[in-house]
Amino acid sequence: MAFPDKHGHFGDFGGRFVPETLMTLLVDLEKEYRRAMKDPSFRKEFRFYLSNFAGRPTALYHAERLSARLKTLKVYLKREDLLHTGAHKINNTLGQIILARRMKKTRIIAETGAGQHGVATATVCALFGLKCVVYMGAEDVERQALNVVRMRLMGAEVIPVQSGSRTLKDAMNEAIRDWVTNVENTFYIIGSVAGPHPYPLMVREFQSVIGEEARRQFLKKEKRLPDYLLACVGGGSNAMGLFHAFYGDKKVKMVGVEAAGHGLSTKAHSAAIARGCPGVLHGSKSALLQDDDGQVLIAHSVAAGLDYPGVGPEHYFYSKTGRAEYVAVDDQGAIEGVRILSATEGIIPALESAHAIAYLPKLARRVKGKKTVILCLSGRGDKDMGTIKEFI
Ligand SMILES: *Cc1c(COP(=O)(O)O)cnc(C)c1O
Repeated sequence: MAFPDKHGHFGDFGGRFVPETLMTLLVDLEKEYRRAMKDPSFRKEFRFYLSNFAGRPTALYHAERLSARLKTLKVYLKREDLLHTGAHKINNTLGQIILARRMKKTRIIAETGAGQHGVATATVCALFGLKCVVYMGAEDVERQALNVVRMRLMGAEVIPVQSGSRTLKDAMNEAIRDWVTNVENTFYIIGSVAGPHPYPLMVREFQSVIGEEARRQFLKKEKRLPDYLLACVGGGSNAMGLFHAFYGDKKVKMVGVEAAGHGLSTKAHSAAIARGCPGVLHGSKSALLQDDDGQVLIAHSVAAGLDYPGVGPEHYFYSKTGRAEYVAVDDQGAIEGVRILSATEGIIPALESAHAIAYLPKLARRVKGKKTVILCLSGRGDKDMGTIKEFI
């Protein structure tokens, strides 16, 4: 059976938990999305920008010195860090803006926490000359000043949100309010495999180019399928982008790495699958970090892009059905991950991706015999040098 079902459910998760006014909008969006995916001209345009603007296909790189150090693992890196803007997020924003143009929308809105999705959205809006409004918690506007400069340079209007905790979830509420008010001309670009149906499906499909390429590239190099897939999980789009193409390959094991922040025994982490429970955020049901009254907790990770209190519903479904396993790596571990990859391969990873790198030594000790791994290197570390400098 293919997931999600026609109501957007991945088993017990996903769905559409939104006010009435948004329901018709989401139904329309889903219709347009399904029509577009069947239209060769949409696919052709998407492919054109993925290769000519973003720089696809990305390399599948055999990390030889890293593998030698791990002994039991032969590691291939899927180099999403080489894409324009330095991370996988551009795959999704390109797909969504091409869809928005088909739907004759002239105004794009997005919410952003650390600013990376805001930058990826501002980038494609500048590319197509569409008006771009980005909601960002006032707290985050201060913390992520450089990304605010990037967005404004590319012509986006960044609106600091002063309500609540002045962070991501408040920005999400504000973006939804804007959408309800300006439905006629506005398209809402969501940045991960989260949000109400059809977003988790749509974002997965736009990101699944990662796994499709990697599968082809790996088969060509190794003449077989990999034993393991490994990726960090914030909302879960780079991980799902890699995993999805291998869903039916039952022998391929999948491991998602959540951020343990200061540790899973503290309150300062972002491990929604490991420590959350079912709840509704952002219009869909999934694992969520919440207090006893169901109030959403503030997540923490040294990696700004993993700092999200929820997770995409399909991951929770994979976790509950055992199709994938989810583990967690803390802040200190991620810094160690940055060191390992930088020193062995000459590649400085994003702090998010470094969580996956940091899990490799543990995986290496777990396996019997020699195993192959594809690790999604979701982004490059340039944006994190300030944070890394404080640690070392
Ligand atoms: C945003 C981001 C992530 C986390 O988002 P997912 O939807 O979980 O992929 C991971 N890596 C990088 C480099 C990011 O920018």
